[in-house]
Amino acid sequence: MTIGLETRLREVLDKKSAEKLAEELGLHTIGDLLGHYPFRYIGQGERPDLGRLAIGEEVTVFAEVRAAVARKYQPKRPGQKARRAERLEVVIADEDGRTLTLVYFNQPWLKEHLTAGKQGLFVGKVGQFNGRLQLNSPQHFLVDEWNVTSGLLPVYPGTAELPSWKIMKAVHTVLGLVPDLADPLPCELRSRLGLLGYGEALHRIHRPEDHEVLGAAKKRLKWQEALVLQTVLVRRKAAAADEAADPYPAGGAILDAFDARLPFTLTDGQREVGEEIAAELAAEHPMHRLLQGDVGSGKTLVALRAMLQVVAHGGQAALLAPTEVLAAQHHRSIAEMLGDLARGGELGAPQEATRVALLTGSATAAQRRTVLDLIKTGAAGIVIGTHALLYDGVDFAALGLVVVDEQHRFGVEQRDALRAKAEHTPHTLVMTATPIPRTVAMTVYGDLETSRLTELPAGRIPIATHVVPYTDQRWMQRTWTRVREEVAAGRQAYLVCPRVGGDEEDDASAERRPPLAVTDTIEYLRNGPLQGLRLGLLHGRLDADEKDRVMRAYAAGDLDVLVATTVIEVGVNVPNATAMVVLDAERFGISQLHQLRGRVGRGAHAGLCLLVSEVPEGTTSRERLDAVASTTDGFALAELDLEQRREGDVLGAAQSGVKSHVRLLSLLKDADIIAAARAEAASLIAADPDLKAEPAFAALVDDLAADRGEYLEKG
Ligand code: ADP
Ligand code: MG
Repeated sequence: MTIGLETRLREVLDKKSAEKLAEELGLHTIGDLLGHYPFRYIGQGERPDLGRLAIGEEVTVFAEVRAAVARKYQPKRPGQKARRAERLEVVIADEDGRTLTLVYFNQPWLKEHLTAGKQGLFVGKVGQFNGRLQLNSPQHFLVDEWNVTSGLLPVYPGTAELPSWKIMKAVHTVLGLVPDLADPLPCELRSRLGLLGYGEALHRIHRPEDHEVLGAAKKRLKWQEALVLQTVLVRRKAAAADEAADPYPAGGAILDAFDARLPFTLTDGQREVGEEIAAELAAEHPMHRLLQGDVGSGKTLVALRAMLQVVAHGGQAALLAPTEVLAAQHHRSIAEMLGDLARGGELGAPQEATRVALLTGSATAAQRRTVLDLIKTGAAGIVIGTHALLYDGVDFAALGLVVVDEQHRFGVEQRDALRAKAEHTPHTLVMTATPIPRTVAMTVYGDLETSRLTELPAGRIPIATHVVPYTDQRWMQRTWTRVREEVAAGRQAYLVCPRVGGDEEDDASAERRPPLAVTDTIEYLRNGPLQGLRLGLLHGRLDADEKDRVMRAYAAGDLDVLVATTVIEVGVNVPNATAMVVLDAERFGISQLHQLRGRVGRGAHAGLCLLVSEVPEGTTSRERLDAVASTTDGFALAELDLEQRREGDVLGAAQSGVKSHVRLLSLLKDADIIAAARAEAASLIAADPDLKAEPAFAALVDDLAADRGEYLEKG
């Protein structure tokens, strides 16, 4: 038998180990196991004691088992099986005699294992029970099991049934069997960059002698991840550039008419990006462009001008919005901006006029028929909608451009479905107001061209943001007074809470009080600090009609204060709104807060955002709020946000292909590798589009593109 990465573990390990690895961690082949990297390493000299333990912290301590006692107990929940309801309490002590209790549930076999006198490392999170510190089910490495005589001790992500040391044993066995592995990376690149060979890197990452060697191994493996991913993206981009699209020449009657009546001049950014887009729409290959720009930077206008260019030459443009509120709002504001240019077919309308149709899930059957007809005949040049646009039965006469607003809420399949409605691939413009850090853009949106709008339209006054301590009566008074002042001056305000309310989210076991809910808060305000003002309620659980009614009333100025959840986060545009109060502000992410406050100060008047929070100064939560208050630079905040999130959250659920491929590579820390790999991938593909000279590397690329990275192919 030749042994390689494809070899099944059950062929080389004992049956029980192989089964456990498969069941517990989904590892079936040698390649799977060797790709299950340690998440931490412990040096020989590192023997941390029990001196410093803080609740909630991950700790590694070196200690000796004093005693282990098994206790039966009654499981809490009635439905739970009473079988093996046993708790093992293990007391450990360090060199200085400090002790700590470890608790393991339902793992009776550990009693034989963690016996008095055994020494080892214990890795876990510090918790508290009945006022005493403890570690709950920590990983343990007993000295007599290490059999690592030198180097760093790897710690693997494991489970109760399959602790790290067992994984380590399996890895050691396998490493001893694997012959010298062929290296999939192009040889020239590897030697030019001084990267370790593949087999050596795998050995070193599992059994590093020291941190230096470990660093070299990681670098090699990260490069491979980055290069494969970037090659998929670069190739995808090249393939898209080869597809056919209908060309729409720059300019055209309706666009010229629109430009002529614009009440302001375009910002430099809008003009530059507009020209880029105009040129791409005029080409015979589809545009795939991501337009990033802070809230209020004027993206919608750029998109509208692109849509008009397509309409001017007989095409249709679809605008996909993530919510009904947004679709309705886009519809309103676009119809408004177009004026009689949106009254195509009506008496007295300009000849170049078109029609703007809105299709959402809440349309009545009759409305729907009318709209579908407008779409099908091509009478509606611009079609705005939510997912409803994607359904069968929505037929376009000549779909030429798809604009996707806030695509992070939009599945790739959905975009794809829409694109399938056109004869040729439509041009695609993706707009996002969430500034995307460079490495994320390169990785997650790596098959799109990107443009940024970095300046706000002239005359816009940057919004002022302050953090308000909830516990300070005077500050809170002042907050409500400010809202009243704005309303007295004829303006409007938003009040944002983290939660809708009702009962379903109340979690009695939570450590903190539940976040404030809009449904409670509006009552409080109505009878308290905002008595007499006209308050409206908006949240995701209202039905579409009600949402639309409230938004209309607010936009029309019939409401003074909109008490809302984050449904207003994206794109809602009421220029008369000048103040925003966010309650429990620390419950929101940095980018989310930035996004939220972008709802105010969109008109001629200065905007004010008050972030109300009870978290004390000096905490990281408070620092995040201070950061938001200190700058209006969305890209800077996005980078900061990235630093505070976990990689998995950054990549998001939709991009599972990338997520499972990117294991060591950090979008935060490995910007250099990602950028360099991008450049290398581009020159590889330019020189050898089908990677004929690099079959092993090509196989990895194909694998990601076809198997795990389905979205990449569809991008
Ligand atoms: P975004 O979609 O990027 O959040 P919008 O396109 O909705 O921004 O623009 C925000 C507001 O600014 C709108 O009221 C829009 O009419 C206005 N606006 C857009 N471009 C300009 C400009 N060049 N000068 C002045 N106002 C502008
Ligand atoms: Mg917008």
